[in-house]
Amino acid sequence: MSLLSIIVPCFNEEEVIRIFYDEICKEAERFKSIGVNFEIIFIDDGSRDNTLQIARDLHKSDQRVRYLSLSRNFGKEAAIFAGLENSLGDYVAIMDVDLQDPPSLLMDMYLALTREGYDSAATRRTTRAGEPVIRSFFARQYYKLIKMISKTEFVDGARDYRLMTRQMADAILAMNEYNRFTKGINEWVGFKTKWLEYENVQRAAGNTKWSFWGLFLYSLEGITAFSTAPLALSAFVGIFFCAIAFFFVCFIIVRTLLFGDPVSGWPSLAVIILFMGGIQLFCTGILGQYLAKTYLETKRRPIYLIKTSEKIDQANSDLNNTDETV
Ligand code: UDP
Ligand code: MG
Repeated sequence: MSLLSIIVPCFNEEEVIRIFYDEICKEAERFKSIGVNFEIIFIDDGSRDNTLQIARDLHKSDQRVRYLSLSRNFGKEAAIFAGLENSLGDYVAIMDVDLQDPPSLLMDMYLALTREGYDSAATRRTTRAGEPVIRSFFARQYYKLIKMISKTEFVDGARDYRLMTRQMADAILAMNEYNRFTKGINEWVGFKTKWLEYENVQRAAGNTKWSFWGLFLYSLEGITAFSTAPLALSAFVGIFFCAIAFFFVCFIIVRTLLFGDPVSGWPSLAVIILFMGGIQLFCTGILGQYLAKTYLETKRRPIYLIKTSEKIDQANSDLNNTDETV
């Protein structure tokens, strides 16, 4: 029998985690009939509600369920990394707990890997129905922009929902950068990916964990992690304005020689100084973004820290039991 690990990042998901478990169990039955066992790993990303307790209960009643609790909220990217690092399966799937990633697609994904020879099967949403209009709009513009400025292929509407071989999971683990942008990393590592499409599904219960501002900051992460075009842009802007300044100097010299030098035009001078000051600050800001990311990378901080897991809980309870018997 082969083993399929399902990594499920959860942040304050007490309302939906059991619903997810019920659905995935149905899928597990189908897989069992073709000789594949499931391992379901809930990554509790520093939840402040009962998520961890529910995962513990599920583990007690079903040994296929494992859990890993991070010491605080590290973000979905870190949770995915933690899951990949602790999974044991020959195949690894990453899934949201809110059932926006339909479990029924798992079988198609698995067959794409085993029968069609793909290394991974990924999903993309063809619609964004049910999402706030403004969020969809900015998401589309963002994908257009990042496709233009990055060499890495970004797929519009791509989800993190994906099944991959152990080989590809290990390749992703080898990219142990601190500033993680999964959509880029998945493409960067290469391998043959089959894209499956589906229409957007609403959350089964609970609320989205992303604010507009949170998404905005995350999108900047994608740009700085997978493109240095903004740095080149600031250099081009500098060259462009130098060229303008050069022609302007020539123009003033010629005009002074021909018509003398009546002193006038300080408002235009003030505007030019302000404008140039703005451009300079803008370019320094871009530089600062990359510097900040480099600073964080060079610290080599761990991507996540574990507070507890089914193994740690088990070891602790074994220890308590021996203490009592002594
Ligand atoms: N999530 C997480 N850590 C976070 C934020 C989200 O582990 O800091 C998980 C969340 O529990 C869910 C998945 O990431 O399983 C997707 O989150 P959500 O549904 O809120 O995002 P959306 O589908 O709205 O983009
Ligand atoms: Mg969701």
